[in-house]
Amino acid sequence: MVKKTKGSGRFGARYGAPLKQKRLNIEEKQKKLYKCPLCLKEKVKRVSSGIWYCSKCDVKFAGKAYSLGE
Ligand SMILES: [Zn+2]
Repeated sequence: MVKKTKGSGRFGARYGAPLKQKRLNIEEKQKKLYKCPLCLKEKVKRVSSGIWYCSKCDVKFAGKAYSLGE
């Protein structure tokens, strides 16, 4: 008699679900537009860690890693 182990391959995908949700929330925060210190429009996007870009002024500047401001 042979016993089949069913569904063992699916465990990994299920295990990763809560982590993905958390990551999504962080990305959502990073997509937020911030107020530009130059033109004062909310057009500033985070390009990479500490680098921000204003699509209105077409200018890149340094800021904090995850949020802009003091
Ligand atoms: Zn600007």
